Amino acid sequence: MADIRFDGKVAIVTGAGGGLGRCHALELARRGAKVVVNDLGASMDGSGGSSAAADEVVKEIEALGGEAIANGSSVTDDAGVKKMIDDAMNKWGRIDILIANAGILRDKSFSKMTMEDIQLVVDVHLMGSFKPIKAAWDIMKEQNFGRIVVTTSSTGLYGNFGQANYGAAKLGLVGMMNTLKIEGAKNNIKINAVCPVAATRMTEGLMPEEVLKQLKPEYVTPGVMNLVKDEAPTGMVLSAGAGAFSMAEIVETNGAFVGQGDALTAEAVADKWDQITDKSTQTHFNAGGEHGQNIFRLLAEGAKG
Ligand code: NAD
Repeated sequence: MADIRFDGKVAIVTGAGGGLGRCHALELARRGAKVVVNDLGASMDGSGGSSAAADEVVKEIEALGGEAIANGSSVTDDAGVKKMIDDAMNKWGRIDILIANAGILRDKSFSKMTMEDIQLVVDVHLMGSFKPIKAAWDIMKEQNFGRIVVTTSSTGLYGNFGQANYGAAKLGLVGMMNTLKIEGAKNNIKINAVCPVAATRMTEGLMPEEVLKQLKPEYVTPGVMNLVKDEAPTGMVLSAGAGAFSMAEIVETNGAFVGQGDALTAEAVADKWDQITDKSTQTHFNAGGEHGQNIFRLLAEGAKG
């Protein structure tokens, strides 16, 4: 395997003052990238903040002989995001890689979750990814090169008690990715999602110590490097944790044509339920248009009888 290098490339990693983001930033720098280390330095529920965490990681990168600048803005703050992009452009003149990683938690069962808990988590994860990506997008288009990673979660893909806010934001990111992979294709912009599991302050106390030892954030980062390299895939969700990696996809069954007009009743749908839900026929669509084509395929098959 050829070495994966990022010499001459400029990367932005949000939420890189600790946890997974710090590991991504350090590894990018080790492999030659110049890095903007963004971190608001917030507590886990999103309160407070200082650029000290980002400054610390910049020092670590410099100690490795790398180049980095700190940015202490919130990813939800338009002026702060603009400054982050402007700082990168003024210093290095390009933005090749953007890893949207910043995040917080406000876990509560849905009855107890306030609208503020929902708004804040959606703002940080979903809008806090949209804003930097939107600000970097036209720069990447102009360069005819861009590599973007969003950070999703098993909660978004599959669900988890107490995380309706977080899950909605995390699957929203996959929705954004699914369209940007199409819009970015002609300008060599590739966008992927990582679905990590790692022992960080986010998972403290959630699993036994023995298990957490296997889940070093450093064990996720090599997967992420493959999502931002020149030959990266696009539109992929890479699950990563403990040094194990897999691919997650949204799938749909082959389905069934039930009928139209008087033939289409609730009971007729119920009669075909086994065929409609037959998981052995599942496939993944690469674009919404393929979903539409599948409907018309079923219709044509139905018309043939
Ligand atoms: P972490 O708390 O160590 O890191 C998150 C970082 O984001 C912190 O340094 C924090 O200061 C920063 N941050 C928070 N709000 C910010 C804002 N508004 N602007 C800029 N920075 C901000 O947690 P982590 O586990 O490293 O999480 C990184 C990402 O991975 C998050 O998006 C998280 O949801 C996701 N994730 C983590 C796990 C896991 O198992 N740790 C699982 C699934 C997804």
